[in-house]
Amino acid sequence: MATNKKPGKWRKRTLGVRGGTMRTPFQETSEALFLTSGYAYENSEEAEARFKGEIGGYQYSRYANPTVTMFEERMAMLEGAPIAQATATGMAAVSSALLSALKTGDHVVAARAMFGSCLHVVQEILPRFGITYTLVDGGDIAQWQAAMQPNTRILFLETPSNPTLSIVDMRAVAKIADAAGAYVLVDNAFASPVLQRPMEFGAHIVVHSSTKYIDGQGRALGGVVCCTEDFYTRHLQPWIRNTGPSISPFTAWLHLKSLETLDLRMKQHCENAAKVADFLATQRKVTRVLYPFRADHPQHNLARAQMEAGGGIVAFEIEGGKKAAFKLSNALGIIDISNNLGDAKSIITHPETTTHSKLSPQARLELGVTSGLLRLSVGLEDADDLCEDLEQAIKAA
Ligand SMILES: *Cc1c(COP(=O)(O)O)cnc(C)c1O
Repeated sequence: MATNKKPGKWRKRTLGVRGGTMRTPFQETSEALFLTSGYAYENSEEAEARFKGEIGGYQYSRYANPTVTMFEERMAMLEGAPIAQATATGMAAVSSALLSALKTGDHVVAARAMFGSCLHVVQEILPRFGITYTLVDGGDIAQWQAAMQPNTRILFLETPSNPTLSIVDMRAVAKIADAAGAYVLVDNAFASPVLQRPMEFGAHIVVHSSTKYIDGQGRALGGVVCCTEDFYTRHLQPWIRNTGPSISPFTAWLHLKSLETLDLRMKQHCENAAKVADFLATQRKVTRVLYPFRADHPQHNLARAQMEAGGGIVAFEIEGGKKAAFKLSNALGIIDISNNLGDAKSIITHPETTTHSKLSPQARLELGVTSGLLRLSVGLEDADDLCEDLEQAIKAA
């Protein structure tokens, strides 16, 4: 297989459509799906040479697969990363990035406002292997600095965060990490590489749940770790090869094809979300609207410095707590009640009783997850239809 064309200085929209494409001798225009577990060798000598690493070529799809390679190369190009490794889910990407590099005696600093399973890995799984952690308020740089220990190896954050869309200053956190020789790990699922490229702000490792905006149509779970060559060869590659959280070539193909429309879709998600956020702010029963690019977002200047648009997620609080939030959600005619996000279909979630129900009431309060808070993943429907749907549901609440 030959690489299609040299990316050179291609802009990100071109990379999203063509980056990493390889063609077979059939010269297919659409990327081929290689549903194969193994690869045959011309002779035993060739097998020996491939296993010794003396010649290139595929050996086994737990290690690598041509369709997966295309997806990884396109992701690396979009993130501006030296290399990318796809995984079976977003959580496989997060746990592989952490567990491949950490060992007993190491310490992690993590922002408290984080996806529930990420927090579980940090708080419940890492300590079982003698890896300690400190949680900080991600927006307070002094807390990151104060949490550093001589054995701190990874600083882990998510921006914008789930579900309150708080923003972390990646450049400031990277400065602290660099001074200590530690890695900054950023979960970029909410923004996608179209809106934010954390490596430009000093991050060393970027993880994605490609289940979200990259798939974009709620079809398949997947994940990606983007990192340096050194992190890949020393930590990630041996971990992936021998523990096996590899992505299915079929999913990699779906997500590869989805990248062709990621830029277009994100534009529309952002335009719709901005419109819905402004509409919600006009509603008397809505007591708080959180959207990174609105002037009333507490960190809106930082959001504008790091992101190209505000993203597709809006959080808002309805007067009347859980009862009103349930009534509103139940009255919606278009928007689905579901805990996924980043789908073409709009989705609403009540974090207190679903995604954040395992947290203590105190921990929820610290994150701003109140009883009346709803997280809305704004889809690709007509924004006016979404506003009308919300208007009638707010009346019913
Ligand atoms: C969904 C999500 C994950 C986990 O991804 P899966 O693909 O569901 O495993 C991690 N981080 C963030 C921010 C997410 O939204």
